[in-house]
Amino acid sequence: MTTALDSSCIDHSRANRILQTRAVENESKVVGENDDETITFYQSLGQDLLDADAKGLIELEASVVRPQIENMRLLGRGDKPAVTRQIGAILRVLLNGAELRGGSKDIAIISLYRPGDKGGPHLAGRAIDIGRFAGKRLNSAFPDEAAEGVTACYRDLAQNAKSLGFKFALGLPRNLRTDNPGIEAELKGNGWEARAAIYSAALGQGKRINFFNQSSEETQKIYDAIRVAYKFTDVFFSHNNVPGKSPTGLVKSDIEAFVRTAVRDEWLQILNSGGKGLSYLFPDAADHLHIQLV
Ligand SMILES: [Zn+2]
Repeated sequence: MTTALDSSCIDHSRANRILQTRAVENESKVVGENDDETITFYQSLGQDLLDADAKGLIELEASVVRPQIENMRLLGRGDKPAVTRQIGAILRVLLNGAELRGGSKDIAIISLYRPGDKGGPHLAGRAIDIGRFAGKRLNSAFPDEAAEGVTACYRDLAQNAKSLGFKFALGLPRNLRTDNPGIEAELKGNGWEARAAIYSAALGQGKRINFFNQSSEETQKIYDAIRVAYKFTDVFFSHNNVPGKSPTGLVKSDIEAFVRTAVRDEWLQILNSGGKGLSYLFPDAADHLHIQLV
């Protein structure tokens, strides 16, 4: 009796193992949607980006972006690429520009596909974040470089708008807000740690400030100190503009809202000389340019 039971258990677990093995085999044999042309597109883009990274021409963020590009290089018939074909076409345009300029670490790609970006364009592989362009840091802590680098990127995209043939939007580098509700909003949500670090750095403390669990009087003192210490030059939009929101929803009037008149005039000139494709603009992050499909 005991023997029969044991034997039955063994048989049962063996059967489970066989079933599990079959399930894995079936999964790995799923036939996907990618046709030969699509596979060639992604594989060659992945290879060229990795080559440019290895040569020091561009920089791929190492922990997440580079593995995504490595998967792109090995894309198979059933695989889902990290970015859409359109974002892939933008990556190709950016890479072509870097090759023409030939500078060292000309572009830094800091984020592509983000599975945790709930409801955001990175979740669907419809956005790119770049931290450097044409060798310029796209960071509001370096406002002149940021203005120059983002403008150069817009010019590259505008010149290729016809071949790209689709609409995109740009999330521009911005300064953090300094009004009370603004500071509170900056200390919440995705990426708040980086923004808290920017305030801390402005306050000149050696270590990160604990912005939370203070009395309301102490909080007010910290906020007042931020207003005094966090000196900046606005790069594109005023720091009082609401992050993530296009000021007017239309590219021309968004450009007209730029704080710097020289930058505004240059962008209008690019727009007027056929810079189609760009749909609207919005203030986004402190330390990068965000390019997304619309
Ligand atoms: Zn982004």
